[in-house]
Amino acid sequence: MTINIREIGEKDRSSVLHPFTQLKDFATGKLGEPTIVETGKGIRIKDAHGNELIDGFAGLYCVNVGYGRTDIAEAISRQAYRLAYYHSYAAHTTDELAILSDRLVKMAPGKMSKVFYGMSGSDANETQAKLVWYYNNLRGKPNKKKIISRERGYHGCSVMSGSMTGMSFYHDHMDLPLPQVLHTGVPHFYWGAEPGEPEQEFSMRRAAELDYLIEREGPDSVGAFIGEPVLGTGGITPPPAGYWEAIQSVLEKHDVLLIADEVITGFGRTGSMFGCQHYGIQPDLITVAKGLTSAYFPLSGAIVGEKVYEVLEAGADRVGAFSHGYTYSGHPIGAAAANAVLDIVERENLPGNAREVGGYFQRQLKMTFAQLPIVGEVRGVGLMGAIEFVADRERKVRFDPSLKVGARISKAARDRGLIARAMPHGDILGFAPPLVTSKEEVDEIVSISEAAVSAVMDELVREGHNI
Ligand code: PLP
Repeated sequence: MTINIREIGEKDRSSVLHPFTQLKDFATGKLGEPTIVETGKGIRIKDAHGNELIDGFAGLYCVNVGYGRTDIAEAISRQAYRLAYYHSYAAHTTDELAILSDRLVKMAPGKMSKVFYGMSGSDANETQAKLVWYYNNLRGKPNKKKIISRERGYHGCSVMSGSMTGMSFYHDHMDLPLPQVLHTGVPHFYWGAEPGEPEQEFSMRRAAELDYLIEREGPDSVGAFIGEPVLGTGGITPPPAGYWEAIQSVLEKHDVLLIADEVITGFGRTGSMFGCQHYGIQPDLITVAKGLTSAYFPLSGAIVGEKVYEVLEAGADRVGAFSHGYTYSGHPIGAAAANAVLDIVERENLPGNAREVGGYFQRQLKMTFAQLPIVGEVRGVGLMGAIEFVADRERKVRFDPSLKVGARISKAARDRGLIARAMPHGDILGFAPPLVTSKEEVDEIVSISEAAVSAVMDELVREGHNI
């Protein structure tokens, strides 16, 4: 299809309310033209001007199988021709939905029982909150409702999931967080550890803080804890040693459910099929989205463990139908897309690729960047990684935020053909390429990043900064 770039740009500017975009700068043209993304193949996308970019972030950590997979397009098309839609209310289903759910329950970590479907990670976490409340109402614990998440955790942008998100810029001017949500300390060893504190002790300290918070609020008022196995948007930060073990023992002690938000880590990104398996987490509820369909169709799931489900079923005679659902819950096209994606994930062993190529990626990142004078930390696991930039690595001092070092490096990478994301919390360049990325493509990603970092270092020197 040939498009009129100017006309599309004008229509877009005049009618699309873009997420996470400075509205006035966009409206007045200060941000330039919108990038019209036209096609994608493998780990690359192409814009309407024909510029090709390596997508080092797989969209928003979601196009795990890469772009242009025709078998998924065909599965979607087959389902659309056969039956574009039917709902899943009142015991209706489709073959694709039943097959997918059976598959998810069997492959998910822990003892899982059922899957409730939505369209986004945010709405799935919204569902998790309601499940926690419903579960505790049915158990006769009507006060056990508060949900604890972590500072710098990211769980979405809807009212409850946005409240669980632990970054103030997602709350400001939006009347969030809701009072039912509390935040505890982030397991970010680099920034959070006391001088000389070993990782294990730092983890124990975070667990003790959680214990204190639950005691302070009253264990009978705390229903669940939600966390990403690996902190994503908050900085792509793997957990410090012993963290999940220590957290889980606090939760067990207080009869607090554990919601594992596997929206990024699910389906292979860490090198294991689920982040929970990678870190020995036994969740009660699991949230999946993104990689479930590799974003070929919007689909998310709240996977419900046996412990919770049994209470829901036992209460059904008393309370009647499970009164929660969306028109598109269990959409058959989403289910067909997910089955086609999971076929690829399994057939091509993408968790294995994330482990092997991811291991190479982590080593290359460390080798190339860890010793630079403006790099505080290089971290990651599997095919997710981050470089954190600091003004003074010895004394761990951040750059003045007005210098926008992270954003400038991200832009310099983009100008050289690579999308690597400036993460919102600090000067962090984040990577989460598709799980089909090869070692040669890792080399390209690392070498473009190296050129971008060195260009911005030169700029900083020219500006008179002492680095
Ligand atoms: N949970 C995690 C861990 C995420 O990273 C995200 C999105 O990035 C979400 C939930 C929200 O998903 P969505 O943007 O599909 O609502």
